Amino acid sequence: MSVDIECVVVGAGVVGLAVAREMAQAGHEVLVIEAGDAIGTGISSRNSEVIHAGLYYPPGSLKAQLCVEGRRRLYEYCDSHGVETRRLGKLIVAKDQEQLAGLEMLLARGLLNGVDDLRLLDRKQAQALEPELSCVGALYSPSTGIVDAHALMLALQGDAEAAGANVVFRTPLLEARVIDKGFSLALGGTAQMTLSCRRLINAAGLQAPALAHRIEGLERQWVPDDYLCKGHYFQLAGRAPFRHLVYPAPEAAGLGIHMTLDLAGQARFGPDTEWVDVEDYRVDPARAEAFYQAIRNYWPGLPDQSLQPAYSGIRPKISAPGEPARDFLISSEAEHQVAGLINLFGIESPGLTSCLALAGRVRQLIDNA
Ligand SMILES: Cc1cc2nc3c(=O)[nH]c(=O)nc-3n(C[C@H](O)[C@H](O)[C@H](O)COP(=O)(O)OP(=O)(O)OC[C@H]3O[C@@H](n4cnc5c(N)ncnc54)[C@H](O)[C@@H]3O)c2cc1C
Repeated sequence: MSVDIECVVVGAGVVGLAVAREMAQAGHEVLVIEAGDAIGTGISSRNSEVIHAGLYYPPGSLKAQLCVEGRRRLYEYCDSHGVETRRLGKLIVAKDQEQLAGLEMLLARGLLNGVDDLRLLDRKQAQALEPELSCVGALYSPSTGIVDAHALMLALQGDAEAAGANVVFRTPLLEARVIDKGFSLALGGTAQMTLSCRRLINAAGLQAPALAHRIEGLERQWVPDDYLCKGHYFQLAGRAPFRHLVYPAPEAAGLGIHMTLDLAGQARFGPDTEWVDVEDYRVDPARAEAFYQAIRNYWPGLPDQSLQPAYSGIRPKISAPGEPARDFLISSEAEHQVAGLINLFGIESPGLTSCLALAGRVRQLIDNA
């Protein structure tokens, strides 16, 4: 059997669902195909659930633009859809003068990105907010918060379906071929059929580059090399020491082992960084040692034996270990010359925060093509 659909979105993570909603609400016919048996079984359920302010990313980058716009839209969206968020605010802490200089640079970068509510605090001011904190100073970001990522995805799915989109599970896209005015798609899993579509949006997260390599008619040069960078989390047994999110000065591949709170007020620490070759989500309890050391830089009161392995997530990197982090890559016809195809590569943090803005960008590219 062969069916013709206008727009197929691959992946029902937070990005694919946001794109499906955006496209369906704009009047496009949309089918989301998801290999897993539920929404959000990939990166979208293995992250810190933080709504980032947008201060880390190079000015003018997609990460900076989409994070700042996405954060504003996400708070509004969650407020109007009953998705729980909390604007807890965040402190990025410096443990010495050198890191303090780094925070001043972050402040300047944040301002350039349009994050205009940042404040540098001295030690006393930071400790007035968080008495258990050890630091020489901190950068305070009041608009950073947390979100219930699963409730967000449910709301996006609900909106997309209400606008006519369909979401099917256990339906991996095996391969695709560029044909006259569109694509022929070979679906596996429960569907086991061929489908044709005019537009194809690859929001397959970690699998996006591998999937793009299976699109016959797309030249290999338009698919970036991909790398997996795992981050582990440990849960704190007992009461959370802080009311704000607390981050160390950022590192090369991640934001450093930070403390976030979930919506129930439970503290967890992570993610660290480990470059891996395969998807494996086990958390080695032996990694706790490095966590105790990193956390005691800003919370010397962390009791022994209080960290328990929690979960892990994998960042879909398109920059190799040691290279500067690359920007989100929204690869469209303008780049690869294949009409109707959009590949979303390297949608690591702040992808959750940026999902609505990313979706808006994808729709613009499609509508303006
Ligand atoms: C450790 C970590 C911490 C993070 N913390 C934050 C944070 O605090 N704040 C923030 O803003 N961002 C954060 N992020 C980033 C954020 O989680 C991601 O950017 C976002 O979840 C990516 O969503 P996605 O929809 O692109 O990918 P996914 O959620 O992985 O969705 C992709 C989907 O595609 C499906 N799929 C794959 N291949 C196929 C196929 N062939 N056919 C059909 N379906 C397929 C998969 O099953 C999956 O469900 C973090 C990421 C990590 C790894």
